[in-house]
Amino acid sequence: MRVIVVGAGVVGLTCAVRLLEAGHRVDVVARDLPLETTSAVAAGLVHPHRAGPPDLVEAWTARSVAAYETLSRVGTGMPHGVVLMEGTDVEHGVRVAPVVDLPVYLRWLVARIESLGGTLTRLNLSTLAHLGGADRADRAERGDVLVNCSGLGARLLGADPTVVPAAGQVVVLEQVGLDRWWLDARAPTYVVPRAREIVVGGTDDVGEWSRTPSPATAADIVARAARLVPALAHARVLRHKVGLRPARPEVRLERVGGVVHCYGHGGAGVTLSWGCADDVVGLVGPASGD
Ligand SMILES: Cc1cc2nc3c(=O)[nH]c(=O)nc-3n(C[C@H](O)[C@H](O)[C@H](O)COP(=O)(O)OP(=O)(O)OC[C@H]3O[C@@H](n4cnc5c(N)ncnc54)[C@H](O)[C@@H]3O)c2cc1C
Repeated sequence: MRVIVVGAGVVGLTCAVRLLEAGHRVDVVARDLPLETTSAVAAGLVHPHRAGPPDLVEAWTARSVAAYETLSRVGTGMPHGVVLMEGTDVEHGVRVAPVVDLPVYLRWLVARIESLGGTLTRLNLSTLAHLGGADRADRAERGDVLVNCSGLGARLLGADPTVVPAAGQVVVLEQVGLDRWWLDARAPTYVVPRAREIVVGGTDDVGEWSRTPSPATAADIVARAARLVPALAHARVLRHKVGLRPARPEVRLERVGGVVHCYGHGGAGVTLSWGCADDVVGLVGPASGD
């Protein structure tokens, strides 16, 4: 059976890896390549934010944490950017959580897909039916499946107006020797260190489509972050980013005919990705061995 995954953010790439591991032939197609996606903007703290439903989010998070813990312990031949790090959740105390350096990790996911025989191609779709084209009936007969991981693009591809943008701005600062994360989800303010830089955020503007960073918002973000970690007040700014979270009242993870939908992960795509990918494999079904 051939599976086409639409979307090359963290959700689509993780689904592709799990589907390939299950023995399927997998081709990923996407308008934006991995480093151009919302996923590349994410701070990378494994923590559920703006996603539902609560019971499934808890289960998906637990499975993702287990997958990240495994990954953090193994050498994979190339850097994967996943570490377990202690940090402080201002509301809930000190704990250890996986922290994912997305630009490194997305490259690793692509390499993993290619090493398992999958492909990644840039393709801007106006409809999911387009992928079937003239041979749509053949595809259905063979049992081929599309997996729709188009994030905010599902407004169009899933004809789903309940997916809306929740814009998030971050400032990337130089590393100042910080080796623990901080989170105050009420603001929201977070400080997430990587090997050579620190991501600080953030904002959460529902309905906002602009991806242009605001200098005033950036100054506010750094001031809030510096209240948690004073050393950040004078850290050099490396870059500014805005990403559009695919917010939805609940993640859509269901099969409708030959399409498995998996989108609407809000502020938790990194956190939910492995758990959701396991469920997608179950909905696609067993590989036929062709
Ligand atoms: C500032 C910020 C901080 C965040 N921090 C965290 C965090 O710490 N932890 C966490 O878990 N989450 C975090 N998130 C949320 C996380 O980034 C998202 O939940 C996640 O990126 C969603 O992944 P996705 O793969 O569904 O979507 P995306 O990364 O948006 O990828 C969607 C893919 O679908 C493709 N696509 C869409 N439409 C079409 C089309 N018509 N044709 C072809 N392809 C199409 C796109 O091109 C893209 O490749 C953060 C988000 C932001 C903005």
